[in-house]
Amino acid sequence: MSIKANLKVILDELPGEVQLVAVSKTKPESDILQAYEAGQRIFGENKAQELQSKAQNLPDDIEWHMIGHLQRNKVKYIARHVSLIHSVDSLRLLKEIDKRAKQNERVIKVLLQIYIAQESTKFGFDEQELLELLADSEFQSLEHIEVVGLMGMATNTDNQEKITKEFQSLKTLFDHLKTTHFKDAPGFCKLSMGMSSDYAIAIEKGSTLVRIGSAIFGHREYTTQ
Ligand SMILES: *Cc1c(COP(=O)(O)O)cnc(C)c1O
Repeated sequence: MSIKANLKVILDELPGEVQLVAVSKTKPESDILQAYEAGQRIFGENKAQELQSKAQNLPDDIEWHMIGHLQRNKVKYIARHVSLIHSVDSLRLLKEIDKRAKQNERVIKVLLQIYIAQESTKFGFDEQELLELLADSEFQSLEHIEVVGLMGMATNTDNQEKITKEFQSLKTLFDHLKTTHFKDAPGFCKLSMGMSSDYAIAIEKGSTLVRIGSAIFGHREYTTQ
């Protein structure tokens, strides 16, 4: 099927309040333009320099989301272009994002990535680390970042029950934070979970932002997690 047809199938399944990040990592700009012409405006990349060059070449009304593990020394490449960084997993990274956002005279929206899977290859804060971060005065003093929600990746497994539990745990944490640390922050409203293989479960569990790549663009020649 074409990119356009794949997109339509997915959009028809998404409840109105759930946003789609079309994950275009490794895919050529011509593929992105096909999705763009079908109306898609949010695209996700996982390499800083790839996001930068695509953002420079493609239409200005695209919202670029950084979804992959981000190294501090790469933040400078995306600071001007990125609309949302999904994959923030340390205070050191937050400080670098804050610094680069300030240089660009803007505020960068971020999601805190939470470790919900049982896979050592995945990144993110555990609950204890998250609470420590939120209580940290250095974190609280950052003025050029805005935390607008949480992101998580479930274990890569066929076990639906396990995936359901992992997404449920993230949703519970998200709802808890909305009534505690972020109760005066209406902007804290995004829950990024669900990819091609598990987005139906993620939506059932309260995702507001799904990150879908291969189900739109076909499988990737190489994957860079
Ligand atoms: C690649 C990637 C996706 C999309 O994966 P698909 O299985 O192709 O839908 C989602 N989230 C992250 C963090 C990714 O790196």
